[in-house]
Amino acid sequence: MDEELRPLKKIECTNINERGLSMLCDIVLIFKQIKDILKVEIIKKWNVNKLIKYNIVMPIIQYTDKNNKTGSLNVSEFPDECPMCHKGIKPILFGKAFWSSINAKMQAIFICPREECYRVFIGFYAEAMGQYFLSHLRPINIVEKDFPDTIKSISSNFPKIYNQSHGAEQLKLDEVCGSGYRKALEFLIKDYLLDQTKDEEEKKKIKKEFLGQCIKTRIDNPKLQLVAERATWLGNDETHYERRWKDKDIEDLKNLIQLTVNWIDTEQLTKEILKDMPKGKIKSESNQSLEEKKKNQELENK
Ligand SMILES: [Zn+2]
Repeated sequence: MDEELRPLKKIECTNINERGLSMLCDIVLIFKQIKDILKVEIIKKWNVNKLIKYNIVMPIIQYTDKNNKTGSLNVSEFPDECPMCHKGIKPILFGKAFWSSINAKMQAIFICPREECYRVFIGFYAEAMGQYFLSHLRPINIVEKDFPDTIKSISSNFPKIYNQSHGAEQLKLDEVCGSGYRKALEFLIKDYLLDQTKDEEEKKKIKKEFLGQCIKTRIDNPKLQLVAERATWLGNDETHYERRWKDKDIEDLKNLIQLTVNWIDTEQLTKEILKDMPKGKIKSESNQSLEEKKKNQELENK
């Protein structure tokens, strides 16, 4: 029989030595760890009831209340990002947390373990169905988003309004940050259009027109027009009583604003390059062949 077609010899394990047993234990342990990792990933998507049902182990926080009564509570998690330096961390829990029986809220003091930061912050935990969940962290060092120079030179208001909304979002003011992003978008589009014309009458019209109308009739770049139009749809949802795009949220709006920024930036950079390099360089006349001279003459006449 062909060597390759011969069936594999059945391995019979009748005797396992100490080394083999140790290897087998290692393999079992690895499988257990993989199973545990997968379980942790899965529980992130589960609801509170399932968490309780499957009795997943949670961190414990020791607390004291206003009457100096002490106790301990399981909490959903410790913060995994420092609100001051915004780096991923395993925070140091400082002393006992404070628990209030009136609103069933707990405040735990944490310290960022990073040497460069080492700042204190408070984790606020709220009770839901008998469990304590991390609701927010304070104080927060608000992170500002930076925009390309092309955008800043077209609109000084856009980065300012955008970052005020971004700050509101980080402070969990989620009912107002969306309308701020919508305002930022309007300033970006209108300032971009104002930058395209020198006609004062046109400028007055642009300032007065609805944003949707400006996008539809005044933007020539079709890709920019498409993304700006969609950003406006989602932006309007943030200011209207009834939401039309129920499956979209603030992240989708921010992505569309970012795409609008990218298209304007690309267009501006292209304009600058073409202004700087309007046509190809011509070889000095003495080095040109007769045919090259003829070609260059033709190019110049075009
Ligand atoms: Zn930190």
